[in-house]
Amino acid sequence: MNKCIITVAPTGAWPKKENNPNVPMTPKEIAEEVNDCWKAGAAVAHLHMRDDEGNGTMSTEKFRETVALIKEKKCNIILNCTTSGDLNATEETRVAHLIELKPEMGSYDCGSMNWLHTSLFLNPPAFLEKLGKIMIENNVKPEIEAFDASFIYNALYYQKKGILKGPLHFQFCMGAAGGTTATVENLAYLKSLIPADATWSAFGIGAGHMPILLASIAMGGHIRVGMEDNVMYAKNQLATSNVQFVERAVRLIKEANRTVATADDAREILSLK
Ligand code: ZN
Repeated sequence: MNKCIITVAPTGAWPKKENNPNVPMTPKEIAEEVNDCWKAGAAVAHLHMRDDEGNGTMSTEKFRETVALIKEKKCNIILNCTTSGDLNATEETRVAHLIELKPEMGSYDCGSMNWLHTSLFLNPPAFLEKLGKIMIENNVKPEIEAFDASFIYNALYYQKKGILKGPLHFQFCMGAAGGTTATVENLAYLKSLIPADATWSAFGIGAGHMPILLASIAMGGHIRVGMEDNVMYAKNQLATSNVQFVERAVRLIKEANRTVATADDAREILSLK
């Protein structure tokens, strides 16, 4: 419980250079940012790719290029590749990079919702069953992203069916338009629903960022920071880099008398093989 894993989500599928010119977009920019964040204390990197126009893409080629650049740097960070980086992706392109690159972790969005009130975030049962099996076959640990409580109930169902294998790891994604709001009360509720042997991490988008960060550290959880979730470092202050978020997280973890988990610590905590 003492060691706290920092996941950095440097890019995401949405923020553009006009939202914050410091969002890393190309494989080279992402690889450099991930390496710098690892040196600053991040143990896991949650990766999204962008096409040459800056739109979210599930291009295996972009993942391949980025992962190779990160490995070239002898960066020991755990790679966690998204499976939801483009709402127009097919079920095949959402999993192709997992099968080819076999990252240690991948996101598993355990339910569907109205995303940002504009589009459908679809993760139908047949896809989740297929994704779970592919992750088991390729030894990719699912990070179960929960945008509300129903995602957790779904995960418990899939664990019972053998599609998800315990100990489960959850990421509580809070404050997305269409998902649960980012409040400490909601965080305590979500945490109360997961199995006793599960691990969890959380983040809040926008105004909920700091409350969820502080509460997760206080409650013994793990945390996620980065420009996928927040392009502002503070009110009216654009983030200068993802490293800035990681450095603040490191300071807060230490002030709370916890220890920042290294990537190898995180491998042990998350039961990665
Ligand atoms: Zn993501």
